[in-house]
Amino acid sequence: MALTTAGTAACAKCKFFDSEQSADLGLCRYNPPISQPSGDTAGVWPKVEANDWCGHFEAVAA
Ligand code: SF4
Repeated sequence: MALTTAGTAACAKCKFFDSEQSADLGLCRYNPPISQPSGDTAGVWPKVEANDWCGHFEAVAA
């Protein structure tokens, strides 16, 4: 069974995509940063490609 979001959802079109790195690679800001094993290291957000997507996709408002 094909997912209904396949072909329509994409990180590049999601309001949680932070594309500061490049047009094709960005950060997903849906969740807070992920803690690192060392307590004095800054947390990170997941890197995602523009054509990735997940079930939390929300389109950027027009
Ligand atoms: S991983 Fe999901 S929530 Fe994050 S930018 Fe992509 S579609 Fe949006």
